[in-house]
Amino acid sequence: ATVPTIRLNNGVEIPQLGFGVYQIPPEETVEATRTALEVGYRHIDTAEMYGNEKEVGQAVRESGVDRSEVFVTSKLNNGFHRRDDALRAFDQTLADLGFDQLDLFLVHWPLPTIDVDYVETWKAMEEIYASGRCRAVGVSNFNPHHLRRLFAESELRPAVNQIEVHPYLANDEVRAFDADHEIVTEAWSPIAQGKVLGDPVVTRIAEKTGRTPAQVVLRWHVQRGDVVFPKSVTRSRVEENFALFDFELDTGDMAALTGLDRGERTGPDPDTFDYVP
Ligand code: NAD
Repeated sequence: ATVPTIRLNNGVEIPQLGFGVYQIPPEETVEATRTALEVGYRHIDTAEMYGNEKEVGQAVRESGVDRSEVFVTSKLNNGFHRRDDALRAFDQTLADLGFDQLDLFLVHWPLPTIDVDYVETWKAMEEIYASGRCRAVGVSNFNPHHLRRLFAESELRPAVNQIEVHPYLANDEVRAFDADHEIVTEAWSPIAQGKVLGDPVVTRIAEKTGRTPAQVVLRWHVQRGDVVFPKSVTRSRVEENFALFDFELDTGDMAALTGLDRGERTGPDPDTFDYVP
């Protein structure tokens, strides 16, 4: 079964399942990304912050898969929120990837407490989009109140909002806000970096369906309509995480997994996170 695509608000299609490369050291990234492309992934999620954009670009070139068939996302790092810095950082991202066009570029964090207003940053993203060198632009870790300011003070709607979502943090208020404003939600740390896989509800559904805990949780995301990109450097897991489109969870299983929500983050809170390298 093939990976479905989701249409962004500007008509661009994004594969619903991708491969995330956060915390993959650069010296392992070429091999891990090539493995994912061999397995069939056609969507890679990286970031300047991850320090492995060069290796992602190299893997795409070496894979033999046509560049046009792989959807690649990168993100603007926290130190580059001023307009001129953002434009330069985007140029550097493209140069490091070795691409002449990126598929999706995101503001990595809103950083609402630093001395640069994220509306300035978003206006730079509008310029980047207008240049034609990026097929879509969006945000990451934006709450509804951050997004409302963008709507009020800029022209372009973000195509996606990439936020932390997994059964311990269903994040349904932000997801609903995104959906109401034609913004696709991407779920980061979809298996909570492994923390949800031993949960008795997850393992019970895994036994019942004859699937692994990771597949059950990733399938829950898929049926909720979010985009996901689990990370692994282990080929068998990369394969396992890709095999999500030949089974279905029933409404009871879906509700039981959503019922695990306990507002528990694995990463920082977007309203207070202010780390600038
Ligand atoms: P994840 O939820 O994808 O978990 C990855 C970890 O889970 C792996 O390191 C491995 O230990 C384990 N794992 C993976 N597959 C498994 C399997 N089948 N069985 C058992 N264990 C398995 O965590 P993540 O890497 O934090 O998130 C995925 C991607 O989301 C990242 O690579 C990155 O692209 C993105 N992300 C974005 C942000 C952001 O601020 N925008 C933050 C974190 C992550």
